[in-house]
Amino acid sequence: MVKASDTVPQKEEKDQGLRVSVLVPRPFAGPLDYRSEIPLHPGTLVHVTLGKREIVGCVWGEVSPSLPSGLRIPQKRSGLPLHRLRYIDGIVPHIPPLPESLRHFVDWVAAYSLSAPGMVLAIALRVPASGGIKPIIGWVKHPDTVVPGTFRLTPSRQAVLESASTEVAYTTAELSERSGVSAGVVRGLVQAGLLEECSVAKSAFLQSPQPDYAPPLLSDIQANVAAALVHSVETKCFEVTLLEGVTGSGKTEVYFEAIAACLRQGQQVLVLLPEIVLTAQWTTRFAARFGAEPAVWHSDLGQKTRRETWCAVESGEARVVVGARSALFLPFTNLGLVVVDEEHESTYKQEEGVMYHGRDMAIVRARLVDAAVILVSATPSMETMANVEQGRYRHERLESRHGGAQLPATSLIDMRHNGPERGLFLSPLLCEAVDKTLAEGEQAMLFLNRRGYAPLTLCRACGHRVRCPNCSAWMVEHRKRHVFACHHCERVEPLKSACPECGAEHSLVPIGPGVERIEEEARARFPEARLLSMASDTLTSPIAMAEAVRQISQGDVNLIIGTQVVAKGWHFPQLTLVGVVDADLGLGGGDLRAAERTMQLLHQVAGRAGRGERPGRVMLQTYVSEHPVMQALLDNDFQTFMEQEAEQRRPGFWPPYGRLAAVIVSAQHESQAEQFARHIALKAPQQEGVQVLGPAPAPLALLRGRYRFRLLLRTRRGIAVQPLLRHWLAQAKPTNGIKVDVDIDPVSFM
Ligand code: ADP
Ligand code: ZN
Repeated sequence: MVKASDTVPQKEEKDQGLRVSVLVPRPFAGPLDYRSEIPLHPGTLVHVTLGKREIVGCVWGEVSPSLPSGLRIPQKRSGLPLHRLRYIDGIVPHIPPLPESLRHFVDWVAAYSLSAPGMVLAIALRVPASGGIKPIIGWVKHPDTVVPGTFRLTPSRQAVLESASTEVAYTTAELSERSGVSAGVVRGLVQAGLLEECSVAKSAFLQSPQPDYAPPLLSDIQANVAAALVHSVETKCFEVTLLEGVTGSGKTEVYFEAIAACLRQGQQVLVLLPEIVLTAQWTTRFAARFGAEPAVWHSDLGQKTRRETWCAVESGEARVVVGARSALFLPFTNLGLVVVDEEHESTYKQEEGVMYHGRDMAIVRARLVDAAVILVSATPSMETMANVEQGRYRHERLESRHGGAQLPATSLIDMRHNGPERGLFLSPLLCEAVDKTLAEGEQAMLFLNRRGYAPLTLCRACGHRVRCPNCSAWMVEHRKRHVFACHHCERVEPLKSACPECGAEHSLVPIGPGVERIEEEARARFPEARLLSMASDTLTSPIAMAEAVRQISQGDVNLIIGTQVVAKGWHFPQLTLVGVVDADLGLGGGDLRAAERTMQLLHQVAGRAGRGERPGRVMLQTYVSEHPVMQALLDNDFQTFMEQEAEQRRPGFWPPYGRLAAVIVSAQHESQAEQFARHIALKAPQQEGVQVLGPAPAPLALLRGRYRFRLLLRTRRGIAVQPLLRHWLAQAKPTNGIKVDVDIDPVSFM
């Protein structure tokens, strides 16, 4: 560690040193004041002592000038005189300062989500604070090195000197490999002063993507859209474009052109995907187009890769980064384009800790650096459509599938008339279609968005239902893992043969289907099929996913059964039939976006069918065939559906025509939570265009052992909710174990 005190002689005089504000990854309202002997640039990472612990913080500068005044949090200075402040302990070595735009972004996310700025900084510091980044040391030879006469130049030493370069630094291991001698020989030359130390560029990113490596021949329509996107990148101004196009229309191909344009002008690109499992297929496709892999960023990476990537993003070496929403917090220094693929996906919303929406914050991130944004979807969110209508976003459309591929033909199977026998879940109509598809050498997919074997287990003797003691939820049987699992907390219990309530043996029966049960039924019904099961809890890593994708692409399997992971942007040309086991799932509950989301999900699953030469078919099993969602899917008419949705939301000022914020009060005792929620409600803001609904017990009234009550703040669109909330909640500070969480623009209403 470089001690700041090493550079300047220590003086304990009263007014010695400078006041610096340091943001630390802790839930304080703002930065803390420390003392430094030397001036420190904002963004510098420093070791500071907090209480008795040493932690890493970041020297904080002015808040972003673009932050609206309503979002500014008044900063209280500590007021302590300089001589009572602690000195910072030192500068974190080998780490470049956090770029200003990233610091401004941290302030923005904190102010918008009403989170402590330190907790947002913590996301950005996950890599640099985790033990520092050691530079990789390599060796170069000086162009006019003279080997001293005392030094015996053996053939192996000669070989090393020949492999060493005067320009490119090679590590000891690399030199030893290139020259075919042991590392000891290399070290000997270093000791003799014949090789000089030099820091090595991270080899992983030495290969840059080439904008002109393998461009596709675009159709006229695609080329027009691509030109518009390219233009948007070239203006180097902040601008958002919605790229809407049916599944298989070439959206990815088209936004690749915008990426190429951004590369040509020497800038960096960030591409967000809604699920990390999608990165493998995306990366392969990217490499085929650009001749080099992009940098990848998500939680599943090893520490070493993370560090290298972090540094390469900061140095600008990593030109294209593809990743999950946390990639927004990487230290880009030259960002020119942000792409949000499948922008309508609710997985972009972070529901715990700092609650932010990846799509919305991507737009903020881009605006802070004047970058272009492309939002991509076949079924854009209502929020994005509203922005298009109000002229805030541009709109580009691809109306048909590429290469003459037809959109799949959709049919509804009314389960009231065509249901299967008791205890089974696949309609005879769907089974016949699967038979036919497999017989023709094509692939079929059965989709059910529910993990495990059965969502509910009931005792036939006493009626007891197996539930989670920590949550208001049923325990879900996972037969393959031999456990009951709660899908809301981490609780798992071994499967039981007797009822835990009445003790009756073999009386527990599964109610309803999960994807494992569909797999069991399919194995029995299609014994010849080569079956692959893809559930989001078993296929978690991009590597496992890549293997599954390979099996499908090569035709090793012909019947795919899965949860929502199968619905994503996959391209499987031989897949011609998609069967949705329970299309109604997701329509229940009082969720504002239940219908919109179900439509988007089912349209996306349907979009997996018929992407190759053979036309595709989609069959939806439903008990509510007259529902607007089913009709929209049947007619492939989403515009009418969205217009109807809009008409329902507009009068009540529901988003996107108004704004929402949820306040969630939780405590260990139900009465405590309820009382405090009522107390908060009494202080609710009273003003035109603002309404507070609740408190009411949350649908998940008990979660991880805490009782929960919800209030919902609803305002007209023009009203900023943050200042309202800050003022309101400041009047009711929670005590003894009561927690108040605020969720701005909530997506989940559980
Ligand atoms: P989307 O992202 O809209 O689902 P994709 O970009 O994945 O569509 O395109 C669907 C398929 O069609 C992909 O296999 C893609 O490579 C192919 N494709 C699209 N446009 C072209 C083109 N102009 N030339 C060659 N292949 C294309
Ligand atoms: Zn639970």
